[in-house]
Amino acid sequence: MELKIGLVKGDGIGPEIVDCAVKVLNKALDNSGHYAVYEELCAGGTAIDKYDVPLPAVTVEKALKCDSILLGAVGGPKWDTLPGHLRPERALLGLRKELGLYANIRPVKLFPALKDRCLLKDAAKIDIVIVRELTGGIYFGQRGRNQTEYGIEAYDTETYNEMEIERIGRVAFEYAMKRRKKVTSIDKANVLESSRLWREVMHNLSKQYPLVEYNDMLVDNAAMQLIRNPEQFDVIVASNMFGDILSDEASQLTGSIGMLPSASLGNTKRGLYEPIHGSAPDIAGKNLANPIATILSVSMMLSYSFDLDVIAKKIDTAVEKTLRNRYLTKDIGGDLTTDQITEKILEYL
Ligand code: NAD
Repeated sequence: MELKIGLVKGDGIGPEIVDCAVKVLNKALDNSGHYAVYEELCAGGTAIDKYDVPLPAVTVEKALKCDSILLGAVGGPKWDTLPGHLRPERALLGLRKELGLYANIRPVKLFPALKDRCLLKDAAKIDIVIVRELTGGIYFGQRGRNQTEYGIEAYDTETYNEMEIERIGRVAFEYAMKRRKKVTSIDKANVLESSRLWREVMHNLSKQYPLVEYNDMLVDNAAMQLIRNPEQFDVIVASNMFGDILSDEASQLTGSIGMLPSASLGNTKRGLYEPIHGSAPDIAGKNLANPIATILSVSMMLSYSFDLDVIAKKIDTAVEKTLRNRYLTKDIGGDLTTDQITEKILEYL
């Protein structure tokens, strides 16, 4: 099978880590009867420099013709002062919307070899999947500024409808059915009307999944529980903003933000796969970035978009062996460069 993959290398460490992941993917596909062809797609800061917009129409057009997209990261200080609609991060929101990718799946797993890097001393087994709603909520609601007698006021609006909530809830319950059968829904129903609707819809949906243990949790409590007792969680489902924040917090349970992959999915097999971290301008170009989050994103792509679970597993195993044998980048307590750890993963493959 031919796998047509769009590559958004992006900005900062993006190009470095995507190049590593491509090497790993090519090696994993060797002698499998499958092969990848790549189409480079321009988005983010580099697109602003070239086309004056973060997401040129040609990028969307090409992306829609790919089977799946691998993205490094976008953004950086160079573009930080641009108005909101022209910032590199708009490219991400635009791509997700254009491709209809409403579900962001973020596995949070502590590799046994990195136990000493986990913030929690006694963490036994951290294996959580965060399902984040991706195309609604406050990141897409009405926003603006008004002049008032107290100076300028600014507002953003959190809006969710029943369809959007049920759709993301269903992804979470289906996931839980394949795992430890527990869903925790995050909201702020004691304060926000949008959260009260979120809770009602999730409750109703949970009745369709009697085998799944269901509970809701206020987001402030969830932020605490993730640190206090992360083992209690199996699948967490949250709105766009709550999921964004909680998954960054959860990344620290795994040792480094450089370890966490993600998949953004919709109703088709086409997905967008990317590490959860940003473009890390502070280490860009220094050969210091941990490429594992991007490499594990490729593994998710093989599994979800192409049903190539066996090859995906080969990549996961190679990463695990690399870590177990203490080949580590700086962020996880070692001294290997981006290239060196990639070479090790290729060797184990
Ligand atoms: P960041 O995730 O880029 O970096 C936070 C810290 O983690 C930095 O110290 C960085 O060096 C470190 N880090 C991140 N990835 C790493 C890796 N793979 N290996 C080792 N260390 C790593 O977050 P930030 O500094 O808040 O944002 C930088 C830029 O990235 C901003 O412009 C932001 O808007 C953008 N951003 C993009 C995305 C995306 O493209 N999906 C996501 C988040 C932030």
